[in-house]
Amino acid sequence: MIGQETLDRVRRDANIVEVVSESVKLQKRGRSHVGLCPFHKEKTPSFHVNPERGFYHCFGCHASGDAIKFLQETEGLEFIEAVRQLAERLGIDVIETATDAERRQQGDARRRQQELYEIGNHAATFFERMLREHPLKDVAEKELARRALVPTTPTDAVADALQAFRVGYAPYGWDELVKYLREAGLSISAAEKVGLLSARKSGSGYYDRFRHRLMFAVLDGQGRVIAFSGRALDEPAAERLQALGYEPSTSSEPAHTPPTAAVRHCTRALGIIL
Ligand code: ZN
Repeated sequence: MIGQETLDRVRRDANIVEVVSESVKLQKRGRSHVGLCPFHKEKTPSFHVNPERGFYHCFGCHASGDAIKFLQETEGLEFIEAVRQLAERLGIDVIETATDAERRQQGDARRRQQELYEIGNHAATFFERMLREHPLKDVAEKELARRALVPTTPTDAVADALQAFRVGYAPYGWDELVKYLREAGLSISAAEKVGLLSARKSGSGYYDRFRHRLMFAVLDGQGRVIAFSGRALDEPAAERLQALGYEPSTSSEPAHTPPTAAVRHCTRALGIIL
């Protein structure tokens, strides 16, 4: 599709007298130029061209229009072709724009991508909060200590790293994140798409892919969460789980969301996870 700007320029700059003169002999009469109408047979001229308004009008057959329309009618061109021909004559670069359908598609894709970023961000926030509040957070803290990731001050390098990589705790249980996302009114299917949830194999509903894990978010250059890496944690004592109302839920499922290459690259760059 031809951009509106190009159309406006062609309409503004087209000299209708010049265009019409190529096929109709015109004579100046007052503000108009007059000639024999090319659209109907006549002996006395009733075809008027008004250069100020950029329009032609025939008082005999009522044909009327602008330079684009004139080219279409006299040369049998499509609208687009007439615009291109005029633009070429006027030395105007034709700027193409996306069609409405293409624009809609691009908009939809952007919204879907945005939704995925949002889910990632919400999940990271949830995991960070769980690391501060969950009754089993000490297990995650123990793992952080084992990796020498315990800040000595709230602003030292380790604290910065924990914050930068949005380190958190994915809680024990099967559907803590599912419940959180539902309560927050967020898209469950988007969460499944980013690999945080899986559909239950039997029955309906979803379960958390990351359970009882130390979580690291993978961020892109703009600080958006694009994936997670989860490290398995020690299994808490059965009595402790029972007291918290948990059934055993850890398993040997894959411990990170796609894109795995990005995760591997990032975890290597971090040098602290593997
Ligand atoms: Zn006419």
